[in-house]
Amino acid sequence: MDAVLRAGEIGQILQSTGRATVVNWIREAIASIRQTQPRILMKATERDFLEYSIELVVRKWHSTTKERMQEVINATGVLLHTNLGRAPLAERAISRMQKASRYTNVEMNLESGNRSQRSRNLCSMLADLVGAEDALIVNNCAAATVLALQGLALGKEVVISRSQLVEIGGGFRLPDVFRSAGVSLRDVGTTNRTYIHDYENALNGDTGAIIRVHRSNFFQSGFTAEPTLAELVSLCHRRSIPFIDDIGSGLLYDLSAYGLDDPNVRNSVAAGSDVILFSGDKLFGGPQAGIIVGKQEFIEVLRRSPLARAMRLDKVTLAAMEATVELHAEDRAWDDIPFYCMLRETVERLRARCEAILQGLTHSNAIEWSVTSLQSTIGGGTLPGQTLPSVGIQIRCESPKEFCRRLRLFETPIIGRIENELVLLDLRAVPSEYDATLCEGLRSVIASFEKC
Ligand SMILES: *Cc1c(COP(=O)(O)O)cnc(C)c1O
Repeated sequence: MDAVLRAGEIGQILQSTGRATVVNWIREAIASIRQTQPRILMKATERDFLEYSIELVVRKWHSTTKERMQEVINATGVLLHTNLGRAPLAERAISRMQKASRYTNVEMNLESGNRSQRSRNLCSMLADLVGAEDALIVNNCAAATVLALQGLALGKEVVISRSQLVEIGGGFRLPDVFRSAGVSLRDVGTTNRTYIHDYENALNGDTGAIIRVHRSNFFQSGFTAEPTLAELVSLCHRRSIPFIDDIGSGLLYDLSAYGLDDPNVRNSVAAGSDVILFSGDKLFGGPQAGIIVGKQEFIEVLRRSPLARAMRLDKVTLAAMEATVELHAEDRAWDDIPFYCMLRETVERLRARCEAILQGLTHSNAIEWSVTSLQSTIGGGTLPGQTLPSVGIQIRCESPKEFCRRLRLFETPIIGRIENELVLLDLRAVPSEYDATLCEGLRSVIASFEKC
């Protein structure tokens, strides 16, 4: 152990990594050599053993460094990629986060110097934005779902259509969510067809709420039926039961010009939904958050719940959300929110950018490339099955998996995808400022393939 710690290579690692961590790595390295390489112990010199231990520690350090979060280029063609952090933030949101990272008046009224309610200003901006009476914000939409169920229907039944008992990403399944929120699930209808009278027949003295959950990561087609939003709202209001609309994706605009369609927050508010839930980092284009908008009497109940305190947002995220809401309110989303800029990019411009990038490559014997038409998807639990025409770079080589791996390990990691043994780099989610870096990454990986 001491000999490894004294080695020159380890000295460098100690400077950038805490001693306790390095000592752990050395212990693991020694244990793993003992276990997997007993021959080294028997035959080799102490020197070999030392060198092998150092090598293992250096490898561990490299892989840990690569796992640190860093900026990556999303050339997957999935615009809101959950593994890549969903919506990229607007410049205004990024700079506000930086300012709020120091001391900030998150809970102080600067006029009076007294304590103010955290996020009150943001919530009233949110409510105005969508035309609702009130709003509340928590850590993510999954948290908002738990809060709404527990806050409005603890110990009671919540009615839901069998076609909506979904599993969202990360193993998060609605029946488990109901259980953990302390409400009983009352599923009605069938997998493909649910009618308004199915809901009506299920209502009783124990009913706490009706919830509609948007099928945001799959779609149904064929012999299907579901009541309209107006029918559900009207039933709930007649029977004085709160109606929860879990929209998920949080769209504010009409995307039909792009051939895309998803439930719109403003429509749900206008239809009279009592509580509407959606994510901050999907089609809203902001940081991770769960946004709850709706009728004041219900939002107020949720605001007072101890769970709401446990799920509250930190100041840095609040700052990013405030900037994002401002951009929507100022009608600047299509100019300043990256997701909407990506939607607006034309295939002609994408094609020209791909061609310019390929101009920057030098001939290779091992690898062929060309510009190709692609279909991007929106992803991240939105617009399932819907695509957007796009353009990208197609690369044919001996080992597409290895090519993608080397692109991912480039200085600024480049994330592509493989289809039919071809490496595809879709440009729709790549801001044009990154074209030069993308070109550099391609050159470096192509050159590394030439050598071997
Ligand atoms: C995405 C989604 C959620 C979960 O949202 P998170 O912000 O990821 O927690 C919940 N419900 C629906 C309908 C969704 O689409």
